[in-house]
Amino acid sequence: MKRIAIIGGGISGLSAAFALEKHRLAGASLEYVLFESSPRLGGVLVTEHVDGCLVEAGPDSFLTEKAWASDLCREVGLGDQLIGSNDADRKTYILVKGRLALIPDGLMFMVPTKIAPTLLSPLFSIRTKLRMAREWFHPPRKAEADETVAAFVERHYGSEMVDRLADPLLSGVYGGEAAQLSVRAVLPRFAEMEATHGSLGRAMLAARKKIARASKAPPRPLFTSLINGMQQLVDAVVSRLTVSAILANSRVQRIQRRERGWMVSAGYASDHFDAVIMATPATVASELLRLTSVELASELAGIQYTSSITVNLGYDGSVRAALPPGFGFLVPRSEGKRMLAATFVHNKFPHRAPEDRALLRCFIGGARNEQILQAPDTEVIRVVREELHQIIGLTADPLFARVYRWEGAMAQYGVGHLERLQRIQGLLQQLPGVALAGNGYRGIGVPDCVRSGTDAANRAILALGLPEVTAQALTS
Ligand SMILES: Cc1cc2nc3c(=O)[nH]c(=O)nc-3n(C[C@H](O)[C@H](O)[C@H](O)COP(=O)(O)OP(=O)(O)OC[C@H]3O[C@@H](n4cnc5c(N)ncnc54)[C@H](O)[C@@H]3O)c2cc1C
Repeated sequence: MKRIAIIGGGISGLSAAFALEKHRLAGASLEYVLFESSPRLGGVLVTEHVDGCLVEAGPDSFLTEKAWASDLCREVGLGDQLIGSNDADRKTYILVKGRLALIPDGLMFMVPTKIAPTLLSPLFSIRTKLRMAREWFHPPRKAEADETVAAFVERHYGSEMVDRLADPLLSGVYGGEAAQLSVRAVLPRFAEMEATHGSLGRAMLAARKKIARASKAPPRPLFTSLINGMQQLVDAVVSRLTVSAILANSRVQRIQRRERGWMVSAGYASDHFDAVIMATPATVASELLRLTSVELASELAGIQYTSSITVNLGYDGSVRAALPPGFGFLVPRSEGKRMLAATFVHNKFPHRAPEDRALLRCFIGGARNEQILQAPDTEVIRVVREELHQIIGLTADPLFARVYRWEGAMAQYGVGHLERLQRIQGLLQQLPGVALAGNGYRGIGVPDCVRSGTDAANRAILALGLPEVTAQALTS
């Protein structure tokens, strides 16, 4: 019987456990133990129900086009619970000089694919609009080395595009800055488009035409979630695992190499395993591996994380009627605000708030404003309310407010991240049975984390020489 430890019970660790459980049920001779330091499982996936509203403390959904999360939902019996975003109402605003400007129709991330809405948009100056026209003639370019997203976007569309779109969009996803993030790790498709087409505009149009020719199916919603929130996924996965294999309140303090396998220590207990899946932030993995490989620990420590706070505010129906239509707004750094973004949750998904309620979810923190993490809830709420007043004129008292802090939860893929991953891969070869999973490596979104956990489980199985189980056996 081979024994596998999983450290970390967020969605990455749970996905790894679920993959191992399937192998176990299909006859593989293995057992696993999942160590989670906190009393609850799910990591940053937390849903609460407040005053009839469904409040997401961490992620509220995932990108539909990355199928790994929806596939997992179906596998754990939640296929009929999946819901799509209300894309007919999808409008997002950017704060420009104190006013909300709509992101024009046809803008794909920062690439314009429709001329008229972009030309008429107050979001960009004439100068940037001229840059967009010139971009059409950008020559193909195979970059020798990685660069920041800011440098890449600036080369194509100028600095205003970095400030007004690239930076706020990336703050929303990574809590990070375009001037720090790696274009190859964060926008690999765009780097490829530049190499093959030169112009991102031409490349995007060509790709869209190809998709339109290949598929007659109606477009899918951009985001997918679950009727009862992201916690539903956590609960459903946990219900499929072996109960005795889950150790909550168990912070792993040490892992040590043994002649064969690994000794994992949590609290006063130590236990022997043949393989270890580390599904924690890379910073924690670095600490745990320090005694085993200084080099690997130092590479892992090089992956930076930022912190963020989500503030959920519930209001009555009069506020709902007065809010602008659409999904919410993003705030560029140049606007001098502390808020990064706000989502009008009641518009984004069905089943989130009763008709007579408005639910706003505001983001604050990120690389721009780490110190706000130290402020008490009352101060965080005060800042958010003050800025909501300035941005959308909202002065009403909320019916409820919920503040959730996520310290060091969002990985930042800096310039050279992919090369770092290669070095990590090389160093892991010297540690048979150790696999890494989580948002620090090849994607920060929930679907990427599901994939990373599943892949780590499969790598551990391979490393232990366990017989491969057929896909059919795994699903039956
Ligand atoms: C506020 C916020 C909003 C987000 N929004 C979205 C979104 O809308 N869509 C999307 O796709 N993604 C979103 N993300 C990103 C995504 O949710 C995360 O990247 C992903 O959930 C991370 O999962 P994980 O399991 O890798 O890490 P985590 O959820 O951080 O889990 C790691 C777990 O390891 C445990 N742990 C740490 N150290 C130890 C130890 N020594 N021993 C045992 N256990 C330990 C922790 O307690 C934790 O439970 C968001 C993230 C945040 C923070």
